[in-house]
Amino acid sequence: MKPVIALVGRPNVGKSTLFNRLTQTRDAIVADFAGLTRDRHYGNGRQGPHEFIVIDTGGFEPDAGSGIFKEMAKQTRQAVAEADVVIFVVDAREGLSAQDHDIANELRRLGKPCVLAANKAEGMKDTARLAEFYELGFGEVHGVSAAHGQGIRSLVELALEPLALPEPDDEDQEDDVNKPIKLAVAGRPNAGKSTLINTWLGEERLVAFDLPGTTRDAISVPFERNGQRFELIDTAGLRRKGKVFEAIEKFSVVKTLQAIESANVVLLLIDATLGVTDQDAHIAGYILESGRAVVIAINKWDAVDSYQREQIQRQIETRLAFLKFASLHFISATRRQGLGPLWQAIAQAHKSATRKMSTPVLTRLLLEAVQFQTPKKSGMFRPKLRYAHQGGMNPPVIVIHGNSLEHVTEAYRRFLEGRFRKEFDLVGTPLRIEFKTSH
Ligand code: GDP
Ligand code: GDP
Repeated sequence: MKPVIALVGRPNVGKSTLFNRLTQTRDAIVADFAGLTRDRHYGNGRQGPHEFIVIDTGGFEPDAGSGIFKEMAKQTRQAVAEADVVIFVVDAREGLSAQDHDIANELRRLGKPCVLAANKAEGMKDTARLAEFYELGFGEVHGVSAAHGQGIRSLVELALEPLALPEPDDEDQEDDVNKPIKLAVAGRPNAGKSTLINTWLGEERLVAFDLPGTTRDAISVPFERNGQRFELIDTAGLRRKGKVFEAIEKFSVVKTLQAIESANVVLLLIDATLGVTDQDAHIAGYILESGRAVVIAINKWDAVDSYQREQIQRQIETRLAFLKFASLHFISATRRQGLGPLWQAIAQAHKSATRKMSTPVLTRLLLEAVQFQTPKKSGMFRPKLRYAHQGGMNPPVIVIHGNSLEHVTEAYRRFLEGRFRKEFDLVGTPLRIEFKTSH
């Protein structure tokens, strides 16, 4: 599970700037869906080998009496509760304020490990100016500049240090056909997640097996179906209780993100009686950003009429257009309809996500594609695509080398993606294409 860092501080100290700096998009894919993620305050960050989740909070005014400020304070407390560590941001230029003291007291009360960052400290040689912040009682004061990217690296290292992170294992790279597929069922409360899972687990064709060396049974259920091993992981809004899964009331973005991240394949369950809601679109956005393989199931198909069915299909085409690569299923968990094909889709998504593509085959396909359709000239430059190799799995990454590749258009990238997908039969997984220009 990725650790969670919450950014807390009064308004205008530079939390959003720091958030943007920490979550600098790892790949362009997020930018493509700016509309979806614009107002989101959760992001993925990376420091060396370690990945983490960052929560940006609105301005925190603990004494806020009512209205929006009270709501912001509540949101902030929730963020702190979900976090493993807090970065408490103050303004080095404005100096210590009464509000900072209030926030410090509140943070002490909440009892989370805190690291104190004095932002806007660029060009501030005189560290004496930071000394006043010691008064807050959070130990060392770290002068940083979010806007200029100074001191951020060590700040994050410091924040993550007490969490004693293990080196991330590269088990995903392992080539072990017997390894279970980790499956998460995600969806808004009441979508039917627990009904579906308990229906599955009640089927006798599912054989539970022992996962060697794990006492993690509490958070996962290993089982086998048609010779394929699966590990069902607890998802946001779901907890295992004895032999069955139970819905829990609160929906937590952090838990959703963590569950998605620890899965190989995510089954996104949508409630047909409600259609595709904002929350569904958000969850879908997280799945996309995580790069996980995904299967979409529209549940409660029994409870909607033909008019509603048509509407939902249209909504999926528009609102979930960015998950076009996922296969779509219409099911009824209570009536056990349409459940068989889901397994095939899950296995297929996993196979696609872990597909191996050799350099000669990729290069041949690339050159065939170029011959079929040459990339357009941009000004004086015509991109020259020379060869391709696989740069990663889960999701698969194809790295294309050549010259002037910065002039390859988005339309052309999509054209290439389509060719590769077809050739390698990639369904249910994102496919990332990167261009490396040699000069
Ligand atoms: P938030 O309200 O805490 O999220 O603060 P913002 O991130 O919106 O920043 C508030 C203002 O401080 C903006 O005008 C930023 O450009 C500015 N700011 C943020 N970080 C820095 C910094 O490192 N140095 C300077 N000089 N200004 C900064
Ligand atoms: P969760 O919060 O996502 O785990 O949702 P639940 O599994 O608790 O289901 C919420 C409600 O939807 C329950 O009343 C279920 O009986 C109902 N439900 C689940 N699946 C279906 C279905 O396929 N059809 C219909 N009509 N109702 C369903």
